[in-house]
Amino acid sequence: MLHVEIIPVLGDNYSYLLHDPVDGDTAVIDPAEAEPVLAVLKTKGWGLDYVLNTHHHGDHTAGNLELRVRTGCRIAGAQADKQRIPGLDTPLSEGDTLVLGSMVIRVLEVPGHTRAHLAFWLPEEKSLFSGDTLFSLGCGRLFEGTAAQMWSSLLKLANLPGDTQVYCAHEYTEANGRFALSVEPGNAALLEKLQQVKKLRAQGLPSVPFTLADELAANPFLRPHSAEIRANLGLQRASDAQVFTELRRRKDQFNA
Ligand code: ZN
Ligand code: FE
Repeated sequence: MLHVEIIPVLGDNYSYLLHDPVDGDTAVIDPAEAEPVLAVLKTKGWGLDYVLNTHHHGDHTAGNLELRVRTGCRIAGAQADKQRIPGLDTPLSEGDTLVLGSMVIRVLEVPGHTRAHLAFWLPEEKSLFSGDTLFSLGCGRLFEGTAAQMWSSLLKLANLPGDTQVYCAHEYTEANGRFALSVEPGNAALLEKLQQVKKLRAQGLPSVPFTLADELAANPFLRPHSAEIRANLGLQRASDAQVFTELRRRKDQFNA
């Protein structure tokens, strides 16, 4: 049984420690900083076998080299980002499987936020680490990919089992919720989700993990088929990809 330790880092990032209590294997996903990860490893008495990076941005990789020096871990990330991920020694691509103790980690390529963004899926543990691709009630900004790429990446994640627990890399849920409400104010599942998130955040608790099924009901970026969203955007006859593209464009302006 996989144990996931949530480590809040920087202002609103999450790093995650994955630990197999039987074999003792441990990996960290997206170490923005080394020290908070080392502190948890020390408290728990765990070593570190792997760093797994979803993408090359500094708020996901800046702890890589220090962690390798201190623990001797390997560093895994997208083959296509070999030049941009500090210390990468285990290049990964679509369909690759990493076995860590009893943990089976499947690699999914989900470009859009960056051109070589990965997600890590543990089918047996019903867990998904989505990086900056799928957020709760939102999705990542398009820095290097197109809206069409991001839409097909989100579809790939949305098609995983509904009871999958999703761990994303940022605590953006409340801000995302304000945009979601602006485009689909009549969505009861969204309103309920916002109440839950408000409670969690008021107690200083993370809004992760969340299930894919809940996101499908509430996240506008997974709901371009929604009649209410389409009516609000004036895009009744557009394709899902076109509605997604317009949602992403409006979200960028909403934040500005
Ligand atoms: Zn990023
Ligand atoms: Fe990020």
